[in-house]
Amino acid sequence: MATRREGGSIIAWLVREEGGLRIYRSELLLRLSWLLQGFSTRTGGSSTGPYATLNLGMTTGDLPSRVAANRERFFSVFGLTPGKVYGVRQVHGQKIFVVREKEAVGTEAELPAADGLVTALPGVAVTTVHADCVPIIIVDPVRRVVAAVHAGWRGTLAGIVLSALETMGVEYQTNPEDCWAAIGPAVGECCYRVPQERINLFCSRWPDLSSLEQSSDRLDLAGINRDLLQKAGLAGRNIDLAGICTSCREEEFFSYRRDRGETGRMLSLAVLKERQE
Ligand SMILES: [Zn+2]
Repeated sequence: MATRREGGSIIAWLVREEGGLRIYRSELLLRLSWLLQGFSTRTGGSSTGPYATLNLGMTTGDLPSRVAANRERFFSVFGLTPGKVYGVRQVHGQKIFVVREKEAVGTEAELPAADGLVTALPGVAVTTVHADCVPIIIVDPVRRVVAAVHAGWRGTLAGIVLSALETMGVEYQTNPEDCWAAIGPAVGECCYRVPQERINLFCSRWPDLSSLEQSSDRLDLAGINRDLLQKAGLAGRNIDLAGICTSCREEEFFSYRRDRGETGRMLSLAVLKERQE
């Protein structure tokens, strides 16, 4: 179990073995009986070399047949087939794609360019792929809406979590104060040294975030996203920050930075259960 580093909260992410895979789940989101959420690890797949073993990214140098088999295995833990899983072509922007109705899932080339997805449709999973960038799941328990967000440094700087909340508000009348969020494993401040100019960009864009106060040559992207969610109105007790570094834990996670680009991808997934309780 990884407990939150900051005090005042007992929420945490749990890792469990399910169907031969090891999957991280937010303990906070586990309280919602009508939601399934998970973040993959390297364990339990069929890929080899730098992609060993559970590579779930379709745009790496890995064999597509192995990635497809890995993805099917991961989806099956959630009772899903690939046709029920939505992704986007991630471009490090702040655009959010709304999954409005059940339609055929496109191939990688046909996916909409965006870095987040929102849906209120039960039985349809929203996913983002990761190898250091911050995975965030936002849930509105009142309207029963879920968002999956991919926040690298560019998306974080642009405030993609705020874009997701805005889209949820426009499409589903979500009030950010009702929302819960889970921030998963990502490259930590420990392993994320950046040029001073990048820190300056963050400090001028977001001058009042506590996660930026101590920044000298490192960025805490997960912490910045947590601060932005709180700024938008989420209660601190409703944000579950994993505090797990993908670069430190080579056995568990792929890391783009650590592996110098040649590596696999983890998947962040959330789905509203079809038969709601
Ligand atoms: Zn680290």
